[in-house]
Amino acid sequence: MATNEVLIVGTVALDSVKTPFGHVQNALGGSASYASTACSFFSPARIISIVGEDFPPEHLAFLQSRGIDTSGIKKEGKTFHWEGFYEFDMNEAKTIRTELNSLATFAIGMPPSYRDAKYLFLANIDPKLQMDVLDAVNAPHLVVMDTMNFWISSRKRELLEVIRRVDVLVLNDGEARQLFGTVSLLKAARQALSLGPEAVIIKKGEHGALLFTDDRHFSAPGYPLEEVKDPTGCGDCFGGGLVGYLAKEGKHDEKTLRKAIVYGSVLASYNAEDFSLNRLRTLKSGDIEGRYREMKDIREF
Ligand code: AMP
Repeated sequence: MATNEVLIVGTVALDSVKTPFGHVQNALGGSASYASTACSFFSPARIISIVGEDFPPEHLAFLQSRGIDTSGIKKEGKTFHWEGFYEFDMNEAKTIRTELNSLATFAIGMPPSYRDAKYLFLANIDPKLQMDVLDAVNAPHLVVMDTMNFWISSRKRELLEVIRRVDVLVLNDGEARQLFGTVSLLKAARQALSLGPEAVIIKKGEHGALLFTDDRHFSAPGYPLEEVKDPTGCGDCFGGGLVGYLAKEGKHDEKTLRKAIVYGSVLASYNAEDFSLNRLRTLKSGDIEGRYREMKDIREF
């Protein structure tokens, strides 16, 4: 196993999504699909997840074409399906239906070779499964986690237990307010830090992201995109890009975290340019570096 390999637990899904600019039915989605693809631009990724017998093999072939190890994806029953839409303000996904299907009974089965993973991304999935993966891994260098409103509403207690055990917590602004019951993002971040993580990152959709540590605070700009078609998966691309970059650098001091946030934002901005993972299929490392430099210019004063 490469020392910078990232183990990602999350959903591999079929998504039906409608935005003001079009729609897709049963397209490749899921937090682990987006996160691992974004991660793969910096570091190799492995997925722990489950799909159904109905999952199109070409989707697995795509993930494998990015060098992603999919041998930890079980196949059973019917694939997790998410249906949602966005209105003109594309910062907020509205869920129409969440069909857990085979995810409802998924029990983590960790191949022994995965137990020595040094970098762990607990992407958006049932916090019970996030905890099972945490328990199964021997001594990770870095654990980053994400979640969403669905789990904050239905599994808050379990979620807080996971947060106590991670190094970096990534949330969006709405989720931070919901989880900590405050309108102030600073207060929410302080509460999150008091639970244990050394860094809390709050994403603000197209408006960028904030980093909070015990004594520092950093604000990354959003990339001013001209063409936004579908923001689904931007949060997962942000998290996957961030952890992939940190694993590549082999450190997560504040300066490296700041750069990782900008790389995460760059991946998220490209992802929004097309439906499903389509934009990531043609994305090149040179595109990422180009937009990273532009982000630097935006912030210079
Ligand atoms: P985001 O980065 O927040 O836009 O994530 C979008 C992805 O999350 C979609 O591809 C969905 O399949 C997936 N998703 C939706 N609801 C859930 C959920 N409750 N748990 C895990 N993944 C979900």
